[in-house]
Amino acid sequence: MDNSGIMNSQPRLTIDTIVDWLRHRGGGMYGGEAVTQLEHALQCAALAQSAGAAPALVTAALLHDIGHLAGDGNDEKHPHGKLGAQLLGGLFPPSVTEPVRLHIDAKRYLCSTDPSYWSGLSEASRRSLEWQGGLFRREDASAFILQSHAGDAVRLRRWDDAAKVPTAITPPLETFIAIMKNVALQAEQTI
Ligand code: FE
Repeated sequence: MDNSGIMNSQPRLTIDTIVDWLRHRGGGMYGGEAVTQLEHALQCAALAQSAGAAPALVTAALLHDIGHLAGDGNDEKHPHGKLGAQLLGGLFPPSVTEPVRLHIDAKRYLCSTDPSYWSGLSEASRRSLEWQGGLFRREDASAFILQSHAGDAVRLRRWDDAAKVPTAITPPLETFIAIMKNVALQAEQTI
């Protein structure tokens, strides 16, 4: 598979590394929220699955913040959506990587197109909106939603926002590892 999307400084990501990161780096709190990174990822994937999302979008939901686990923590300099999409590009198709890349701009889109959306955001998410670029202007919102997979990024974004419930029960990580492996395998077979 084309590996060119991965930054030179990053080793090629493998499924085993992703699983290792989720298991061993996912225990930290999810920036300003009351859930861990792993709980957040599992809740997001579970919401996608409950909504009947395709396996690729369930995988994107599970991995949308992988850039947080991989990066240097400087989200302003190295936005985690872009970093995550670059890392995942060696393993997964655009139906996974594009919603991951676009899920931050999807917040900017929703803030400018859905009047009730901003008030439903957590405090931490409202704060980060500022340095993520703030609300989209009308023309930016129109251009955003025309991109491939932008609709899926918006769906993912709503699950992302809802995946912050401290006591939520989800399927185990193993359930989503199986889905993720299948999506990667299918992508490999279509090359
Ligand atoms: Fe998230």
